[in-house]
Amino acid sequence: MENEMTLSFAAISENEALARMTLTFFVAPLDPTLEEISEYKTVISEAVTNAIIHGYEEQRTGIVRVHAILDGREVTVTISDEGGGIDNVEEAMQPMYTSKPERERSGMGFTIMESFTDNLTVDSRRGSGTTVTFKK
Ligand code: ATP
Ligand code: MG
Repeated sequence: MENEMTLSFAAISENEALARMTLTFFVAPLDPTLEEISEYKTVISEAVTNAIIHGYEEQRTGIVRVHAILDGREVTVTISDEGGGIDNVEEAMQPMYTSKPERERSGMGFTIMESFTDNLTVDSRRGSGTTVTFKK
């Protein structure tokens, strides 16, 4: 099956469910198991939450974009923001690294995303935003 979609929405937490549900419907033709559906939901939620909380610092301004491609049975999803970006991506991806320990974040977002996907890449630069791409 071949398909493609783009979803752009305001960087507010109310839209996390929108992103989760849209991706769930997008992958439905693959007949994912309940476990796989839950993994897709978790990964997209972690990435969108990061864009809202870290990228845009909860300013409720800015746009988060989700782009998904279905190619045969392979799904490729990118989640991007044009927020503050990440200085050191390698450090940010370490388990338990968080730049917001005071907000009781556990720093496990990227680790969880990696464990539920076949491939995860993070492309980011300070000041010009972040793009997370995963394949599943
Ligand atoms: P948790 O996800 O467990 O609540 P967390 O969000 O801090 O905590 P990760 O999701 O692993 O942990 O992200 C690690 C760090 O990477 C963040 O603390 C933040 O500094 C940085 N980061 C992640 N995504 C973005 C983004 N879209 N824009 C800017 N910084 C980001
Ligand atoms: Mg996170």
